[in-house]
Amino acid sequence: MSEKTKTKTKTKTKSKPKTETGEISIHTENIFPIIKKWLYSEKEIFLRELVSNAVDAISKLKNIALVEGLKLSDEYAVDIKIDEEKKTLSISDNGLGMTSDEVRKYINQVAFSSAEDFIEKFKGLEDKNEIIGHFGLGFYSTFMVSDLVEIKTLSYQEDAEPADWSCDGTTKYSLGVGKRKDRGTEIVLHLSEDEKEFLNKDRVQEILVKFCNFLPVTIRLDGEQINDSNPLWTQSASELKEEDYREFYRKLYPMSGEPLFWIHLNIDYPFNLKGILYFPRLNNEFDVTKSHIKLFCNQVFVSDNCPELIPEFLTPLQGCLDAPDLPLNVSRSYLQNDPQVRKIREVISSRVAAKVVELAKKGNEEFAPIWNDIHTFVKYGMMREDKFYNKVKDHVIYRSTGEQKYTTLLDYLERAKEKHEGKIYYANDEGTQATYLKLFESQGMEVLIFDSMIDNHFIQFLESKGEETKFERVDSDITENLLEQDKDSKVVDGDNKTRNERIEEVFKSGLDIKGLSIRIETLKDDSVPGMILLNEQSRRFKEMMRNMGQGGDAPEMDMFAEHTLMINTASPVVEKLLALKEAGDEEKAGLLTEQVYDLAMLSHMALTKERMAAFLERSGKLLGLI
Ligand code: ADP
Ligand code: MG
Repeated sequence: MSEKTKTKTKTKTKSKPKTETGEISIHTENIFPIIKKWLYSEKEIFLRELVSNAVDAISKLKNIALVEGLKLSDEYAVDIKIDEEKKTLSISDNGLGMTSDEVRKYINQVAFSSAEDFIEKFKGLEDKNEIIGHFGLGFYSTFMVSDLVEIKTLSYQEDAEPADWSCDGTTKYSLGVGKRKDRGTEIVLHLSEDEKEFLNKDRVQEILVKFCNFLPVTIRLDGEQINDSNPLWTQSASELKEEDYREFYRKLYPMSGEPLFWIHLNIDYPFNLKGILYFPRLNNEFDVTKSHIKLFCNQVFVSDNCPELIPEFLTPLQGCLDAPDLPLNVSRSYLQNDPQVRKIREVISSRVAAKVVELAKKGNEEFAPIWNDIHTFVKYGMMREDKFYNKVKDHVIYRSTGEQKYTTLLDYLERAKEKHEGKIYYANDEGTQATYLKLFESQGMEVLIFDSMIDNHFIQFLESKGEETKFERVDSDITENLLEQDKDSKVVDGDNKTRNERIEEVFKSGLDIKGLSIRIETLKDDSVPGMILLNEQSRRFKEMMRNMGQGGDAPEMDMFAEHTLMINTASPVVEKLLALKEAGDEEKAGLLTEQVYDLAMLSHMALTKERMAAFLERSGKLLGLI
């Protein structure tokens, strides 16, 4: 309601029983076309406004009855009726009703001047979507669809006289003694020619279901109740069962599958906020630009597009929020910065964190399947919000090659203490990194799998958070634990060269590849002759540049512009190669050298077209030699 009442009512006739006609004075000339144009696509809100007014009238009466100890034996209800012949839609309630004076005051003045306020407030706004649910227009919105609006009302007050009011949307109105016998108010809309859709029962029902589905008073359309006056979020969580929440979810989103879990909010202080937030099972196509939460204000539906209310990282959340104290007749950009809205976002974020922790505490068996659906936005949330990060960080789990399948970072580091303190070995592609994973596994070393889109950033984020945490991809280096420690390389020939030096020489001279270095090691595992190592830091740098779209296809952005071929001296293939060299069989030695390199590159899917062709040809040749 507007605090200033700019409106004055001039009456031409004052003697009571006669019908008075008058002029409603509003300051903005002809605000009507403006409103009509604005709300063009949302004209249907008139019904929400009228039904909410009716519900308000009933709650006011209930309060009065309580305070004044009145005995009212009514069943409260709002009735919507369509009269196709008369081309009217009527909304009636058995609320507190109005006297003629009240009609003058509340309708002629308040309703019309709040419409004017509405226009004033949003005048400069270019984007109509900036107005949330088009709140604030109220009773006046009826004129969007009607040629004539009548009010037939009888106040609850003793000896009250019924009043009839009518107006065609211009500033002229008439007000007289009415015939209504029952307490309450009926609003009759004579729909204009273009708005006949509101005579269609299905259409009216659709609007009522959208806006009025959860109103606290019985709402009937042509005698049939259509709403659930006691929606789940108004009930106490302790009295609800799992199935109640699932059923309610199906009611809200009939086309969706089962929710993963939910949070029931019931906050009274420092603000009012009720609601149920559901975590849907995500597929890859969720629309990240739109919030799926339905916003209500005292059980009246407001909007299902209110991203301001939830932290950005929780966009996939569904469900409903009832925030009765929210300032709704403001623009979105205002709402975004409103301290109360910020508080709401914080509360939601903290409740989600608590829920994640609660689920994690149930143990990995239960948590892991859920985790797969939620890890992306939990990780995103951790990167975006410090408070959220701190609450969940010790509970976040990662897929592991170890026995336990999933582990927290703390547990992993604890187990890793002996073998590789502080270092976290990870793989981000189990296919191309299979050789390395096998090697780690054979030495009983646990590797974490970070294979989703967000993980690249997430790893860097975790490193920035803890000085102790260093991530290394399995192919970035060869850890001490995979190496045979006591296999010294013995001097093997007359030029005083060790076996290792010989091997290095064979590969250095045998492979003419730009950016390639050779490193000789003895692995505990003898099954792989050679592996490619990519330095962690330079690989990350190149990945970053590539993701930023810099460098394009320039050779320096190639992951393999610099790479190391690690030769495993324990491999029988390497032994064979040395023997061939010894015997002076340069051709076969050459084939084998190239083959070892290509096999190592192949496991990275990194062979160029030319090398792939040569590899296949050589493989054929080698097979012929068996
Ligand atoms: P608001 O509901 O925000 O006050 P409206 O324009 O919707 O603004 O309504 C203006 C006023 O008219 C209400 O505050 C109320 O006093 C009165 N009114 C409207 N509808 C009814 C009704 N069905 N019964 C009683 N009073 C009503
Ligand atoms: Mg209203």
